Amino acid sequence: MTKAADIAVEIAPLEWEASLWHTAIAQLEQALPAAGIDPGTAERLRYPEHAVLVSVPIHMDSGETKVFPAYRVQHSRVLGPTKGGVRYDPHVSLSECAALAMWMTWKCAILRLPYGGAKGGIRCNPRELSRGELERLTRRFTAELSSVIGPQEDIPAPDMATDEQTMAWMMDTYSMQVGHATPEIVTGKPISVGGSVFRHEATGAGVVMVAERACKRLGWELAGLRCIVQGFGKVGGVAASELVERGAIVTGIADYSGGIHSDDGLDLAAVARWTAEQGSLDGFPGVSHLTNAALLELPCDVLVLAALEGQVTAQNAGRIQARMVAEGANGPTTVEADAILGERGIPVLPDILTNAGGVTVSYFEWVQDLGRLFWGREDIRSRLAEKMCDAFDRVWDLSEQERLTLRSAALVVGIREVAAALDARGLFP
Ligand code: NAD
Repeated sequence: MTKAADIAVEIAPLEWEASLWHTAIAQLEQALPAAGIDPGTAERLRYPEHAVLVSVPIHMDSGETKVFPAYRVQHSRVLGPTKGGVRYDPHVSLSECAALAMWMTWKCAILRLPYGGAKGGIRCNPRELSRGELERLTRRFTAELSSVIGPQEDIPAPDMATDEQTMAWMMDTYSMQVGHATPEIVTGKPISVGGSVFRHEATGAGVVMVAERACKRLGWELAGLRCIVQGFGKVGGVAASELVERGAIVTGIADYSGGIHSDDGLDLAAVARWTAEQGSLDGFPGVSHLTNAALLELPCDVLVLAALEGQVTAQNAGRIQARMVAEGANGPTTVEADAILGERGIPVLPDILTNAGGVTVSYFEWVQDLGRLFWGREDIRSRLAEKMCDAFDRVWDLSEQERLTLRSAALVVGIREVAAALDARGLFP
Protein backbone atom coordinates (compact mmCIF):
# COMPACT_ATOMS: atom_id res chain seq x y z
CA MET A 1 0.00 0.00 0.00
CA THR A 2 1.26 3.51 -0.82
CA LYS A 3 1.59 5.72 2.25
CA ALA A 4 0.56 9.39 2.24
CA ALA A 5 4.16 10.34 3.02
CA ASP A 6 5.39 8.48 -0.10
CA ILE A 7 2.94 10.42 -2.25
CA ALA A 8 4.03 13.69 -0.65
CA VAL A 9 7.64 12.81 -1.45
CA GLU A 10 6.66 11.90 -4.99
CA ILE A 11 4.60 15.05 -5.52
CA ALA A 12 6.69 17.59 -3.69
CA PRO A 13 10.27 16.54 -3.01
CA LEU A 14 11.84 19.73 -1.75
CA GLU A 15 9.86 21.84 -4.21
CA TRP A 16 11.56 25.04 -3.07
CA GLU A 17 15.11 23.69 -2.86
CA ALA A 18 16.29 24.01 -6.50
CA SER A 19 19.71 25.64 -6.64
CA LEU A 20 18.51 27.76 -9.59
CA TRP A 21 15.87 29.36 -7.37
CA HIS A 22 18.53 30.36 -4.81
CA THR A 23 20.65 31.75 -7.66
CA ALA A 24 17.75 33.72 -9.16
CA ILE A 25 16.78 35.27 -5.81
CA ALA A 26 20.42 36.05 -4.89
CA GLN A 27 20.92 37.76 -8.25
CA LEU A 28 17.72 39.79 -7.83
CA GLU A 29 18.73 40.92 -4.33
CA GLN A 30 22.21 41.85 -5.57
CA ALA A 31 20.79 43.93 -8.43
CA LEU A 32 17.93 45.69 -6.59
CA PRO A 33 20.06 48.40 -4.88
CA ALA A 34 21.54 49.40 -8.25
CA ALA A 35 18.10 49.27 -9.91
CA GLY A 36 16.88 51.88 -7.42
CA ILE A 37 13.19 50.96 -7.72
CA ASP A 38 10.36 51.45 -5.22
CA PRO A 39 10.59 48.84 -2.38
CA GLY A 40 6.92 47.87 -2.81
CA THR A 41 7.48 47.25 -6.52
CA ALA A 42 10.60 45.23 -5.68
CA GLU A 43 8.54 43.10 -3.29
CA ARG A 44 6.13 42.25 -6.12
CA LEU A 45 9.03 41.09 -8.32
CA ARG A 46 10.24 38.51 -5.78
CA TYR A 47 7.19 36.24 -6.21
CA PRO A 48 5.77 34.37 -9.19
CA GLU A 49 2.21 35.58 -9.90
CA HIS A 50 0.87 32.10 -10.69
CA ALA A 51 2.21 28.60 -10.11
CA VAL A 52 0.41 25.43 -11.17
CA LEU A 53 1.35 21.90 -10.16
CA VAL A 54 -0.39 19.14 -12.10
CA SER A 55 -0.17 15.36 -12.03
CA VAL A 56 0.06 13.88 -15.52
CA PRO A 57 -1.08 10.24 -15.77
CA ILE A 58 -0.29 8.17 -18.87
CA HIS A 59 -0.38 4.56 -20.01
CA MET A 60 3.19 3.36 -20.46
CA ASP A 61 4.00 1.03 -23.37
CA SER A 62 4.13 -1.81 -20.81
CA GLY A 63 0.43 -1.26 -19.95
CA GLU A 64 1.31 0.13 -16.53
CA THR A 65 -0.13 3.56 -15.52
CA LYS A 66 2.40 6.12 -14.33
CA VAL A 67 1.86 9.61 -12.93
CA PHE A 68 4.40 12.37 -13.59
CA PRO A 69 4.60 15.65 -11.61
CA ALA A 70 4.50 18.69 -13.89
CA TYR A 71 4.51 22.47 -13.51
CA ARG A 72 3.81 25.82 -15.09
CA VAL A 73 4.94 29.00 -13.35
CA GLN A 74 4.11 32.54 -14.55
CA HIS A 75 6.32 35.16 -12.96
CA SER A 76 4.96 38.49 -14.25
CA ARG A 77 2.04 39.42 -16.50
CA VAL A 78 2.43 43.18 -16.39
CA LEU A 79 3.90 43.59 -19.90
CA GLY A 80 1.72 41.08 -21.75
CA PRO A 81 1.14 37.33 -21.93
CA THR A 82 3.79 35.14 -20.34
CA LYS A 83 6.31 33.27 -22.44
CA GLY A 84 8.72 30.47 -21.65
CA GLY A 85 9.87 26.97 -22.43
CA VAL A 86 8.80 23.55 -21.30
CA ARG A 87 11.53 21.14 -20.17
CA TYR A 88 11.47 17.39 -19.60
CA ASP A 89 14.11 16.50 -17.04
CA PRO A 90 14.45 14.45 -13.83
CA HIS A 91 15.28 17.61 -11.81
CA VAL A 92 12.27 19.74 -12.76
CA SER A 93 10.58 21.20 -9.67
CA LEU A 94 8.33 24.11 -8.77
CA SER A 95 11.25 26.29 -7.70
CA GLU A 96 13.36 25.43 -10.75
CA CYS A 97 10.45 26.59 -12.93
CA ALA A 98 9.99 29.67 -10.72
CA ALA A 99 13.65 30.65 -11.19
CA LEU A 100 13.53 30.10 -14.94
CA ALA A 101 10.23 32.03 -15.17
CA MET A 102 11.79 34.99 -13.34
CA TRP A 103 14.76 34.95 -15.73
CA MET A 104 12.33 34.90 -18.66
CA THR A 105 10.73 38.07 -17.27
CA TRP A 106 14.11 39.88 -17.23
CA LYS A 107 15.04 38.45 -20.63
CA CYS A 108 11.83 39.64 -22.33
CA ALA A 109 12.14 43.05 -20.67
CA ILE A 110 15.81 43.48 -21.71
CA LEU A 111 14.84 42.67 -25.31
CA ARG A 112 11.75 44.93 -25.04
CA LEU A 113 9.36 42.14 -25.98
CA PRO A 114 5.73 42.58 -24.83
CA TYR A 115 5.83 39.50 -22.59
CA GLY A 116 6.33 38.42 -19.01
CA GLY A 117 8.22 35.28 -18.03
CA ALA A 118 6.94 31.73 -17.57
CA LYS A 119 8.45 28.26 -17.48
CA GLY A 120 7.14 24.76 -17.14
CA GLY A 121 8.16 21.19 -17.29
CA ILE A 122 7.58 17.57 -16.49
CA ARG A 123 9.74 15.67 -14.02
CA CYS A 124 10.72 12.61 -16.05
CA ASN A 125 13.72 11.03 -17.71
CA PRO A 126 12.97 11.67 -21.41
CA ARG A 127 15.74 9.29 -22.52
CA GLU A 128 13.82 6.41 -20.92
CA LEU A 129 10.51 7.24 -22.65
CA SER A 130 9.38 5.99 -26.06
CA ARG A 131 8.03 8.37 -28.70
CA GLY A 132 4.50 7.18 -27.96
CA GLU A 133 4.94 7.76 -24.22
CA LEU A 134 6.35 11.25 -24.88
CA GLU A 135 3.39 12.08 -27.11
CA ARG A 136 0.83 10.91 -24.53
CA LEU A 137 2.68 12.79 -21.78
CA THR A 138 2.80 15.99 -23.83
CA ARG A 139 -0.85 15.85 -24.86
CA ARG A 140 -2.15 15.13 -21.35
CA PHE A 141 0.13 17.88 -19.91
CA THR A 142 -1.25 20.37 -22.45
CA ALA A 143 -4.83 19.39 -21.62
CA GLU A 144 -4.13 19.77 -17.88
CA LEU A 145 -2.73 23.27 -18.54
CA SER A 146 -5.55 24.41 -20.83
CA SER A 147 -7.01 26.82 -18.27
CA VAL A 148 -3.72 28.69 -17.77
CA ILE A 149 -2.15 28.76 -21.26
CA GLY A 150 -3.46 30.60 -24.32
CA PRO A 151 -2.26 32.92 -27.11
CA GLN A 152 -3.07 35.98 -24.94
CA GLU A 153 -2.31 34.30 -21.61
CA ASP A 154 0.81 32.13 -21.73
CA ILE A 155 2.65 30.79 -24.78
CA PRO A 156 4.91 27.74 -24.26
CA ALA A 157 8.07 26.96 -26.29
CA PRO A 158 10.73 24.23 -26.37
CA ASP A 159 13.49 23.88 -23.77
CA MET A 160 15.65 21.00 -22.56
CA ALA A 161 14.63 17.71 -24.24
CA THR A 162 11.59 19.20 -25.98
CA ASP A 163 11.55 20.18 -29.63
CA GLU A 164 9.46 21.06 -32.70
CA GLN A 165 7.57 17.76 -32.45
CA THR A 166 6.67 18.42 -28.81
CA MET A 167 5.33 21.84 -29.83
CA ALA A 168 3.32 20.33 -32.70
CA TRP A 169 1.64 17.92 -30.23
CA MET A 170 0.91 20.82 -27.86
CA MET A 171 -0.49 22.94 -30.69
CA ASP A 172 -2.65 20.07 -31.94
CA THR A 173 -4.00 19.22 -28.48
CA TYR A 174 -4.90 22.84 -27.74
CA SER A 175 -6.41 23.31 -31.22
CA MET A 176 -8.59 20.18 -30.79
CA GLN A 177 -9.88 21.58 -27.50
CA VAL A 178 -10.81 25.01 -28.86
CA GLY A 179 -12.10 23.65 -32.17
CA HIS A 180 -9.84 25.45 -34.65
CA ALA A 181 -6.15 25.52 -35.58
CA THR A 182 -4.38 27.83 -33.12
CA PRO A 183 -0.72 28.04 -34.16
CA GLU A 184 -0.15 31.08 -31.91
CA ILE A 185 -0.54 28.92 -28.76
CA VAL A 186 3.12 27.75 -28.90
CA THR A 187 6.33 28.81 -30.61
CA GLY A 188 9.19 26.66 -31.85
CA LYS A 189 6.73 24.62 -33.97
CA PRO A 190 7.50 22.94 -37.28
CA ILE A 191 7.18 25.36 -40.21
CA SER A 192 4.37 23.18 -41.63
CA VAL A 193 2.06 24.19 -38.75
CA GLY A 194 2.94 27.89 -38.49
CA GLY A 195 6.50 27.81 -37.19
CA SER A 196 8.98 30.47 -38.16
CA VAL A 197 12.03 30.08 -40.31
CA PHE A 198 15.22 30.64 -38.28
CA ARG A 199 13.53 29.80 -34.92
CA HIS A 200 15.56 26.60 -34.64
CA GLU A 201 18.84 28.49 -35.06
CA ALA A 202 17.79 31.61 -33.14
CA THR A 203 19.18 30.95 -29.66
CA GLY A 204 22.58 29.67 -30.82
CA ALA A 205 22.86 32.41 -33.44
CA GLY A 206 21.92 35.04 -30.83
CA VAL A 207 24.66 33.75 -28.49
CA VAL A 208 27.22 34.31 -31.23
CA MET A 209 25.80 37.75 -32.15
CA VAL A 210 26.27 38.83 -28.52
CA ALA A 211 29.75 37.26 -28.29
CA GLU A 212 30.80 39.00 -31.49
CA ARG A 213 29.51 42.38 -30.24
CA ALA A 214 31.34 41.87 -26.92
CA CYS A 215 34.56 41.00 -28.79
CA LYS A 216 34.27 44.28 -30.73
CA ARG A 217 33.86 46.29 -27.51
CA LEU A 218 36.90 44.51 -26.07
CA GLY A 219 38.92 45.17 -29.22
CA TRP A 220 39.11 41.46 -30.14
CA GLU A 221 38.40 39.90 -33.55
CA LEU A 222 36.08 36.86 -33.27
CA ALA A 223 37.64 35.27 -36.37
CA GLY A 224 40.59 33.17 -35.25
CA LEU A 225 39.52 32.92 -31.59
CA ARG A 226 39.61 29.44 -30.03
CA CYS A 227 36.29 28.38 -28.54
CA ILE A 228 34.97 25.54 -26.40
CA VAL A 229 31.24 24.81 -26.39
CA GLN A 230 29.59 22.77 -23.65
CA GLY A 231 26.34 21.24 -24.98
CA PHE A 232 25.74 20.05 -28.52
CA GLY A 233 21.96 20.38 -28.61
CA LYS A 234 19.69 23.06 -29.99
CA VAL A 235 21.74 25.92 -28.49
CA GLY A 236 25.31 24.55 -28.38
CA GLY A 237 25.18 22.79 -31.76
CA VAL A 238 24.06 25.94 -33.58
CA ALA A 239 26.38 28.23 -31.58
CA ALA A 240 29.34 26.03 -32.52
CA SER A 241 28.56 26.19 -36.26
CA GLU A 242 27.85 29.94 -36.14
CA LEU A 243 31.25 30.45 -34.49
CA VAL A 244 32.96 28.46 -37.24
CA GLU A 245 31.02 30.42 -39.90
CA ARG A 246 32.54 33.60 -38.47
CA GLY A 247 36.06 32.17 -38.65
CA ALA A 248 36.45 31.10 -35.02
CA ILE A 249 37.98 27.69 -34.24
CA VAL A 250 35.92 25.30 -32.12
CA THR A 251 38.49 23.13 -30.33
CA GLY A 252 36.20 21.40 -27.85
CA ILE A 253 32.59 20.39 -27.38
CA ALA A 254 30.72 18.30 -24.85
CA ASP A 255 27.41 16.54 -24.43
CA TYR A 256 25.96 14.39 -21.64
CA SER A 257 28.41 11.58 -22.47
CA GLY A 258 31.56 13.74 -22.04
CA GLY A 259 33.82 16.05 -24.00
CA ILE A 260 36.00 15.88 -27.12
CA HIS A 261 38.92 18.12 -27.99
CA SER A 262 41.30 18.78 -30.88
CA ASP A 263 43.89 21.56 -30.99
CA ASP A 264 43.41 21.81 -34.77
CA GLY A 265 39.67 22.48 -34.44
CA LEU A 266 36.82 19.95 -34.73
CA ASP A 267 35.06 18.97 -37.94
CA LEU A 268 31.54 19.90 -36.78
CA ALA A 269 29.76 18.33 -39.76
CA ALA A 270 31.43 15.00 -38.99
CA VAL A 271 30.58 15.36 -35.29
CA ALA A 272 26.94 16.14 -36.12
CA ARG A 273 26.73 13.06 -38.39
CA TRP A 274 28.22 10.91 -35.61
CA THR A 275 25.84 12.16 -32.90
CA ALA A 276 22.83 11.77 -35.23
CA GLU A 277 23.81 8.12 -35.82
CA GLN A 278 25.25 7.15 -32.43
CA GLY A 279 23.20 9.35 -30.09
CA SER A 280 26.20 10.97 -28.38
CA LEU A 281 29.83 12.10 -28.79
CA ASP A 282 31.02 8.89 -27.14
CA GLY A 283 33.54 7.07 -29.36
CA PHE A 284 33.97 9.87 -31.94
CA PRO A 285 37.28 8.98 -33.64
CA GLY A 286 40.50 10.98 -34.05
CA VAL A 287 40.17 13.37 -31.09
CA SER A 288 40.97 13.34 -27.37
CA HIS A 289 38.15 12.37 -25.07
CA LEU A 290 37.84 13.89 -21.64
CA THR A 291 35.26 14.52 -18.94
CA ASN A 292 32.94 17.48 -19.07
CA ALA A 293 34.60 18.96 -16.01
CA ALA A 294 38.06 18.70 -17.59
CA LEU A 295 36.89 20.27 -20.87
CA LEU A 296 35.64 23.38 -19.06
CA GLU A 297 39.11 23.97 -17.62
CA LEU A 298 41.07 23.84 -20.89
CA PRO A 299 42.60 27.11 -22.18
CA CYS A 300 40.47 28.92 -24.80
CA ASP A 301 39.35 32.43 -25.72
CA VAL A 302 35.59 31.93 -25.45
CA LEU A 303 33.87 29.29 -23.34
CA VAL A 304 30.22 28.87 -24.37
CA LEU A 305 28.13 27.18 -21.69
CA ALA A 306 25.14 25.76 -23.57
CA ALA A 307 24.16 22.60 -21.72
CA LEU A 308 22.69 23.00 -18.25
CA GLU A 309 22.79 24.96 -15.03
CA GLY A 310 25.43 25.03 -12.28
CA GLN A 311 28.45 24.17 -14.44
CA VAL A 312 30.87 26.85 -13.23
CA THR A 313 30.86 26.87 -9.44
CA ALA A 314 33.04 28.03 -6.52
CA GLN A 315 34.96 24.72 -6.97
CA ASN A 316 36.11 25.17 -10.58
CA ALA A 317 35.80 28.94 -11.26
CA GLY A 318 39.41 29.52 -10.17
CA ARG A 319 40.61 27.01 -12.78
CA ILE A 320 38.66 28.34 -15.78
CA GLN A 321 41.23 29.42 -18.37
CA ALA A 322 38.86 31.06 -20.86
CA ARG A 323 39.23 34.80 -21.54
CA MET A 324 35.45 35.23 -21.81
CA VAL A 325 32.42 33.12 -20.83
CA ALA A 326 29.18 33.23 -22.84
CA GLU A 327 26.09 31.76 -21.19
CA GLY A 328 23.90 29.99 -23.75
CA ALA A 329 22.27 27.86 -21.04
CA ASN A 330 20.15 29.26 -18.22
CA GLY A 331 22.00 29.60 -14.92
CA PRO A 332 25.27 27.83 -15.85
CA THR A 333 27.34 30.02 -13.47
CA THR A 334 26.61 30.10 -9.74
CA VAL A 335 26.59 33.36 -7.78
CA GLU A 336 29.90 32.42 -6.07
CA ALA A 337 31.53 31.52 -9.40
CA ASP A 338 30.35 34.80 -10.89
CA ALA A 339 32.20 36.70 -8.16
CA ILE A 340 35.38 34.64 -8.69
CA LEU A 341 35.33 35.16 -12.47
CA GLY A 342 34.68 38.87 -11.88
CA GLU A 343 37.71 39.15 -9.58
CA ARG A 344 39.80 37.36 -12.18
CA GLY A 345 38.70 39.86 -14.86
CA ILE A 346 36.94 37.25 -17.01
CA PRO A 347 33.81 38.86 -18.54
CA VAL A 348 30.66 36.74 -18.33
CA LEU A 349 28.03 37.42 -21.01
CA PRO A 350 24.90 36.74 -18.92
CA ASP A 351 22.21 34.23 -19.88
CA ILE A 352 19.31 36.69 -19.68
CA LEU A 353 20.90 38.69 -22.49
CA THR A 354 23.01 36.14 -24.34
CA ASN A 355 20.45 33.37 -24.88
CA ALA A 356 17.52 35.72 -25.60
CA GLY A 357 17.63 35.02 -29.35
CA GLY A 358 15.22 32.11 -28.90
CA VAL A 359 12.47 34.10 -27.22
CA THR A 360 13.01 36.98 -29.64
CA VAL A 361 12.35 34.83 -32.70
CA SER A 362 9.55 33.13 -30.76
CA TYR A 363 8.03 36.60 -30.48
CA PHE A 364 8.44 37.02 -34.26
CA GLU A 365 6.79 33.61 -34.73
CA TRP A 366 3.79 34.58 -32.55
CA VAL A 367 3.39 37.91 -34.37
CA GLN A 368 3.49 36.10 -37.73
CA ASP A 369 0.93 33.52 -36.52
CA LEU A 370 -1.41 36.22 -35.22
CA GLY A 371 -1.11 38.15 -38.49
CA ARG A 372 -1.17 34.99 -40.69
CA LEU A 373 1.65 36.62 -42.65
CA PHE A 374 5.11 35.08 -42.82
CA TRP A 375 8.55 36.69 -43.18
CA GLY A 376 11.70 35.40 -44.89
CA ARG A 377 14.84 34.02 -43.29
CA GLU A 378 17.08 37.02 -43.95
CA ASP A 379 14.39 39.38 -42.69
CA ILE A 380 14.19 37.45 -39.41
CA ARG A 381 17.95 37.12 -39.02
CA SER A 382 18.44 40.86 -39.47
CA ARG A 383 15.52 41.77 -37.15
CA LEU A 384 17.09 39.42 -34.55
CA ALA A 385 20.54 40.96 -34.96
CA GLU A 386 19.07 44.44 -34.57
CA LYS A 387 17.27 43.51 -31.33
CA MET A 388 20.21 41.56 -29.83
CA CYS A 389 22.70 44.34 -30.62
CA ASP A 390 20.40 47.05 -29.26
CA ALA A 391 19.92 45.08 -26.01
CA PHE A 392 23.64 44.33 -25.77
CA ASP A 393 24.53 48.01 -26.21
CA ARG A 394 22.08 49.15 -23.53
CA VAL A 395 23.50 46.55 -21.09
CA TRP A 396 27.15 47.25 -21.94
CA ASP A 397 26.70 51.03 -21.70
CA LEU A 398 24.95 50.76 -18.33
CA SER A 399 27.71 48.47 -17.02
CA GLU A 400 30.27 51.14 -17.93
CA GLN A 401 28.22 54.10 -16.66
CA GLU A 402 27.30 52.50 -13.33
CA ARG A 403 30.42 50.30 -12.97
CA LEU A 404 28.42 47.06 -12.83
CA THR A 405 29.22 43.57 -14.04
CA LEU A 406 27.44 42.67 -17.26
CA ARG A 407 25.09 40.39 -15.28
CA SER A 408 24.14 43.13 -12.82
CA ALA A 409 23.71 45.60 -15.66
CA ALA A 410 21.45 43.18 -17.56
CA LEU A 411 19.37 42.55 -14.42
CA VAL A 412 19.09 46.29 -13.75
CA VAL A 413 17.97 46.96 -17.33
CA GLY A 414 15.31 44.21 -17.08
CA ILE A 415 14.15 45.10 -13.57
CA ARG A 416 13.76 48.81 -14.42
CA GLU A 417 11.63 48.02 -17.50
CA VAL A 418 9.27 45.78 -15.51
CA ALA A 419 9.17 48.14 -12.53
CA ALA A 420 8.27 51.07 -14.81
CA ALA A 421 5.29 49.10 -16.16
CA LEU A 422 4.18 48.01 -12.67
CA ASP A 423 4.39 51.60 -11.41
CA ALA A 424 2.55 53.00 -14.44
CA ARG A 425 -0.30 50.49 -14.11
CA GLY A 426 -0.42 50.75 -10.30
CA LEU A 427 -1.64 48.11 -7.88
CA PHE A 428 -5.15 46.75 -8.38
CA PRO A 429 -7.57 47.34 -6.63
P1 NAD B 1 19.00 20.33 -25.70
O1 NAD B 1 18.31 19.27 -24.93
O2 NAD B 1 18.74 20.52 -27.15
O3 NAD B 1 20.60 20.18 -25.54
C1 NAD B 1 21.23 20.04 -24.31
C2 NAD B 1 22.66 19.58 -24.58
O4 NAD B 1 23.36 19.50 -23.32
C3 NAD B 1 22.75 18.20 -25.20
O5 NAD B 1 23.83 18.16 -26.13
C4 NAD B 1 23.08 17.29 -24.01
O6 NAD B 1 23.77 16.09 -24.39
C5 NAD B 1 23.98 18.21 -23.24
N1 NAD B 1 24.13 17.82 -21.84
C6 NAD B 1 23.19 17.27 -21.01
N2 NAD B 1 23.76 17.01 -19.82
C7 NAD B 1 25.06 17.38 -19.91
C8 NAD B 1 26.16 17.34 -19.03
N3 NAD B 1 26.04 16.84 -17.78
N4 NAD B 1 27.33 17.85 -19.45
C9 NAD B 1 27.47 18.35 -20.71
N5 NAD B 1 26.48 18.38 -21.60
C10 NAD B 1 25.29 17.91 -21.20
O7 NAD B 1 18.69 21.68 -24.88
P2 NAD B 1 18.87 23.18 -25.40
O8 NAD B 1 17.56 23.67 -25.89
O9 NAD B 1 20.09 23.28 -26.25
O10 NAD B 1 19.10 23.91 -23.99
C11 NAD B 1 20.36 24.02 -23.39
C12 NAD B 1 20.30 25.14 -22.38
O11 NAD B 1 19.95 26.36 -23.04
C13 NAD B 1 19.27 24.98 -21.26
O12 NAD B 1 19.78 25.58 -20.08
C14 NAD B 1 18.09 25.79 -21.76
O13 NAD B 1 17.25 26.24 -20.71
C15 NAD B 1 18.83 26.94 -22.42
N6 NAD B 1 18.05 27.68 -23.42
C16 NAD B 1 17.51 27.07 -24.51
C17 NAD B 1 16.83 27.83 -25.45
C18 NAD B 1 16.26 27.22 -26.70
O14 NAD B 1 15.74 27.98 -27.54
N7 NAD B 1 16.39 25.93 -26.91
C19 NAD B 1 16.65 29.20 -25.25
C20 NAD B 1 17.25 29.81 -24.14
C21 NAD B 1 17.93 29.02 -23.23
